[in-house]
Amino acid sequence: MEFVKLNTGVKMPMLGLGVYGIFETEPMHSAFEVGYRSVDTAFGYNNEDVVGRAVKESGLSRADLFITTKLSNDALRNKNVQEEFEKSLSNLQMDYVDLYLMHWPVKECYIDAWLEMEKIYKSGRAKAIGVSNWQDYHIAEAKKVWSVVPAMNQIELHPRLTQKPLLAVCKAEGIVPQAWSPLGGGNAGEFKENLLTNDVLVKIADKYGKSTVQVILRWDIELGIVTIPKSTNPGRLAENIDIFDFALTADEVAAIDALNKDVRVGPDPDTFNF
Ligand code: NDP
Repeated sequence: MEFVKLNTGVKMPMLGLGVYGIFETEPMHSAFEVGYRSVDTAFGYNNEDVVGRAVKESGLSRADLFITTKLSNDALRNKNVQEEFEKSLSNLQMDYVDLYLMHWPVKECYIDAWLEMEKIYKSGRAKAIGVSNWQDYHIAEAKKVWSVVPAMNQIELHPRLTQKPLLAVCKAEGIVPQAWSPLGGGNAGEFKENLLTNDVLVKIADKYGKSTVQVILRWDIELGIVTIPKSTNPGRLAENIDIFDFALTADEVAAIDALNKDVRVGPDPDTFNF
């Protein structure tokens, strides 16, 4: 495993398990067995309790784990940030999280919510706080009032959406980027098939004796992007973490960068309405 140091000094694994849509502990146990120590959940995924149970059952030390959860849009709108955070801790059966993210920048609510999250960080019950789905203009607005710089921005990012301008803004602020739907998400549709069978990726994968998925995840790591692929399949969980024994050349990274088409598979932060 490789790690990144967040702006709070906290060390975060570069690869974690995304658990959107996972409601059983088995995939988490399979993940822990092959070395995953970071889990990305959210209040809105309705599975914080499953994560909490899996952690308890695993017998792993809490200090060796990195648990991320997220503040829901409802909590932003209803201005009950503190109450929802307490619920998240209780669902997780934990007295702190390693990273607390704002799930979406709900218009007219996200600045106030950020200031509430700063209080949580200062209380020590979130070792780091960050955001998700923030565009450059959300960062610019919040910067006028923040006293804590977000440690992370979790955004949709894969070879068809490389997000270079936003990555540059994050870098300038010391905000670590994290890729959601790093493999193009859960749709087994044309988009995903085309991505995972893309010639450029296949050629690089063949060179290293790796899969195209492993090449995509390694590309994230080379770019300093924390990545959280989701899988429920023990074989694929093992495959996805087996990316720390090779490195891409600068030319290979650039060739994957060039696959960008600015295509999203998930909601657009400019227009989402949930
Ligand atoms: P991913 O890009 O991680 O893709 C998951 C899909 O890829 C699943 O269908 C999975 O199937 C399949 N898959 C996984 N590994 C492999 C492999 N080695 N080979 C072939 N197929 C594979 O999609 P997600 O949308 O789940 O994104 C990951 C995480 O990001 C989420 O779980 C969540 O934690 C986070 N997220 C955050 C969002 C936000 O707004 N902040 C929005 C969306 C996601 P199988 O399980 O059968 O292996």
